[in-house]
Amino acid sequence: MTKDLAKWAKEKGVRYFMISYTDLFGSQRAKLVPTQAIADMSVEGAGFAGFATWLDLTPAHPDLMAVPDPDSVIQLPWKKEVAWVAARATMEEKRVEQAPRNVLERLVGEAAKEGLRVKTGVEPEFFLLNAEGTGVSDIYDTAEKPCYDQQAIMRRYDVISEICDYMLELGWEAYQNDHEDATGQFEMNWKYDDALATADKHSFFKFMVKSVAEKHGFRATFMPKPFKGLTGSGCHAHISVWSLDGKQNVFADKSKELGLSDQGRTFLGGIMKHASALAAITNPTVNSYKRINAPRTTSGATWAPNTVTWTGNNRTHMVRVPGPGRFELRLPDGAANPYLLQAVIIAAGLDGVRSKADPGKRHDIDMYAEGYKVKGAPKLPLNLLDALRDYDKDKTLKAMMGEEFSSAFLKLKHKEWTDYCSHFSRWETETTLDI
Ligand code: ADP
Ligand code: MG
Ligand code: MG
Ligand code: MG
Ligand code: MG
Repeated sequence: MTKDLAKWAKEKGVRYFMISYTDLFGSQRAKLVPTQAIADMSVEGAGFAGFATWLDLTPAHPDLMAVPDPDSVIQLPWKKEVAWVAARATMEEKRVEQAPRNVLERLVGEAAKEGLRVKTGVEPEFFLLNAEGTGVSDIYDTAEKPCYDQQAIMRRYDVISEICDYMLELGWEAYQNDHEDATGQFEMNWKYDDALATADKHSFFKFMVKSVAEKHGFRATFMPKPFKGLTGSGCHAHISVWSLDGKQNVFADKSKELGLSDQGRTFLGGIMKHASALAAITNPTVNSYKRINAPRTTSGATWAPNTVTWTGNNRTHMVRVPGPGRFELRLPDGAANPYLLQAVIIAAGLDGVRSKADPGKRHDIDMYAEGYKVKGAPKLPLNLLDALRDYDKDKTLKAMMGEEFSSAFLKLKHKEWTDYCSHFSRWETETTLDI
């Protein structure tokens, strides 16, 4: 049953609600609403000037009304008098089709019409930096191969355990935390859930990690490649599809290749077919393309893909099938919008199922060392502009993500690319001054 937020607030001692929505660039926007006003706001929504955020709207548009989805409400474990609640963006009583959470909700509904319930888990890696954001927060964290560094994770125990305890308290079934492959980099894992629930948790996780890091005098970043030469921050997504009652994993079939059912294979086929285009969503910033296609890092491997290939339990490809009944998309990075990430996985996968897409042959080789042996597999886009053009050319994916969303996203992202191109860099001076 849907929660009555006013009643719930009284029971929990909540004094303020953060009514929050996520714009096209993944920024979370909120109004802090006192509990006394939540009953009305639950119906009418909180008003925002949409143009002031990253949405394709003008200053003349009517207010964007953010209507809380009570199912998403979370009491902040580090400040119990406040609760975060994800909202549905509406305008003049109509759904704002370009709003990322609305795009995802619609696609979850499309999948349900075909009897499919997509469940996913995400692995958002992040760096803990000093407060200024100029370097990693721990001056002793300098190893060439810092992955799983026991000493380094214990120096950040207070931050990591605080966040993990909160996830446990929220019932997310958190199960492990580690120091990752770059100095200053960490990963924390919790259990997969329905795509929309995972997207809400993913959004909240980013908010929580940043908040707790700041409380400890640090700064957390999910930037895809904050430091040249170090492994970047991915956000792998693990995907399985279930019957609508959630009881049966329809991707699992032990008699098939790697335990992936025929339907799972076609869903994967859709991801492979649309990979170059969906990169615009999973890798949405200029900086994203310094993580994929990157030269070897100081640790020995980037752990990020460069080509559209798939394999079994091998981390050098774009898709890994770690075990029966699910696969892992290793392409997304820390800049991916939590809602659009899930939406584009469903859009591409659903098209794969509908068109019975074949993922092609799997390659059980070390892609970093032997990638040249793979003939005919597309290279991933080399920069944001290539990805945007690939997205623009992919009529099916654009339509499935929604025309209104797709044109808004392309417009704002092309503008970002143009801004970047007009920026003068030190590299240009260094390579061109003496020409
Ligand atoms: P790895 O680093 O090996 O890729 P992690 O343990 O860091 O794996 O993350 C695995 C993620 O996959 C977790 O979020 C986990 O809950 C999720 N996962 C496990 N099984 C499934 C499944 N059947 N469907 C979707 N996600 C899954
Ligand atoms: Mg005002
Ligand atoms: Mg992991
Ligand atoms: Mg990792
Ligand atoms: Mg992974």
